[in-house]
Amino acid sequence: MSNIVAIVGRPNVGKSTLYNRLTESRKAIVDDFSGVTRDRHYGIAEWTHHNFTVIDTGGYVANSEDVFEAAIREQVVIAVEEATAILFVVDVTTGITDLDDEIAVLLRRSKKPVFVVVNKVDNTLQQSDATIFYSLGLGEIYNISSMTGSGTGELLDEVVKTFDEEKVEENTLPKYAIVGRPNVGKSSMINGLIGRDRNIVTPIAGTTRDSIHIHFNQYGHDFMLIDTAGLRKKTKVKENIEFYSVMRTIKALEEADVIILMIDAVEGIESQDINIFHLAEKNKKGIVIVVNKWDLIEKNNKTVKVFEDTIREKLQPFTDVPIVFTSVTEKQRMLKVIDVANHVYANRAKKISTSKLNDVLLPIIENYPPPALKGKFVKIKYITQIPGTAPMFAFFCNLPQYIKEPYKRFLENKLRDNFDFEGVPVQIFFRQK
Ligand code: GDP
Ligand code: GDP
Repeated sequence: MSNIVAIVGRPNVGKSTLYNRLTESRKAIVDDFSGVTRDRHYGIAEWTHHNFTVIDTGGYVANSEDVFEAAIREQVVIAVEEATAILFVVDVTTGITDLDDEIAVLLRRSKKPVFVVVNKVDNTLQQSDATIFYSLGLGEIYNISSMTGSGTGELLDEVVKTFDEEKVEENTLPKYAIVGRPNVGKSSMINGLIGRDRNIVTPIAGTTRDSIHIHFNQYGHDFMLIDTAGLRKKTKVKENIEFYSVMRTIKALEEADVIILMIDAVEGIESQDINIFHLAEKNKKGIVIVVNKWDLIEKNNKTVKVFEDTIREKLQPFTDVPIVFTSVTEKQRMLKVIDVANHVYANRAKKISTSKLNDVLLPIIENYPPPALKGKFVKIKYITQIPGTAPMFAFFCNLPQYIKEPYKRFLENKLRDNFDFEGVPVQIFFRQK
């Protein structure tokens, strides 16, 4: 299940304002550690228990005037191919412009659901102005104000109805997606692993053209590799290469159990890598970091440690992630990547019995109980794992609302120390008992 909602439209209609509202990304950005690019163009939104990825195409627009319109048109085409649903944002205060008309032409050919979102309808007087947008020929219009949020609920109610939720899992093999920025060595890694040029590997029947799945069944391993490098679309506009690769990455990421995030040793970890990492974390996927092109680095006995520390600092707070240093050209540690991915996959599927959890954790909690609040003692009575695809734990206690973030983090660390959840996001809930 990978539902992607793409926000398209010409500049200044309010795409990024809408994006921020849907993803509440302003909040996320405040939590961010310093030093990372502030703007994030894709993120997770939730509406009536549906989680989906929202992508703001406005973040990928070229700066120069001449490529500008061409870039927007091309983005619309890519969005139509890649997204589940499209929000075509227009501006009630300007009416229909030439570029709006051009975009509408492209969207009318789309088989994907398109929602005409008339933005900046801040008051009821403007609702009658909005009716002009019916003439775009794209059916129903949705009047909203991204600034106040009015109308977005009605819009999302309709958007989530178009989602394909009950996709039957046709294959139960572990799925590992190799992702990373262009040129980090994804293609080379996959070719090296499968021992031949994957471009001549016949795609497996039943897989969509969205991503190429390669069945890896060698050296005692049996899993699916999701290849995001394999399908490179020729884009006319340079800036859209990134947009396209982000779309592909999001899809691969939602399909996979474990994400193998490749980083270039020479360039180090960059904001785009961290964005992908956070998206994987929010999707509760297993994660392996691979630092490739290790052959290009001058090394001494501290280099590995320095690299690991630098990377972990940027991954905070989720730092319990394995890091593997590879060189595809020197054939170093490529199978180690697979071993580590298997380990993370197993960690993600791990089930711990209630008795074991309590035997281990209750004495630790006894020694270091949650701090009392307003003179009241917080008592954790027992712990149990909640069934699910990724590890979730419920801590039953008398006053769940009194347990604060630092203690929650303490419990997570104790879980990690005692049970090995390396590479796996762990969720902790406090429940009343
Ligand atoms: P984008 O270029 O399409 O991403 O547009 P932005 O989100 O950057 O918004 C362009 C301008 O429109 C900004 O000044 C926003 O504050 C403003 N804007 C966005 N949404 C609304 C709205 O619902 N009502 C009003 N009045 N202004 C809005
Ligand atoms: P992709 O865009 O992520 O699929 O990257 P490619 O697999 O196409 O690799 C990009 C370039 O990096 C190619 O020239 C590769 O030969 C080179 N490359 C890949 N892995 C390594 C490595 O471990 N060491 C060095 N020195 N070069 C590498």
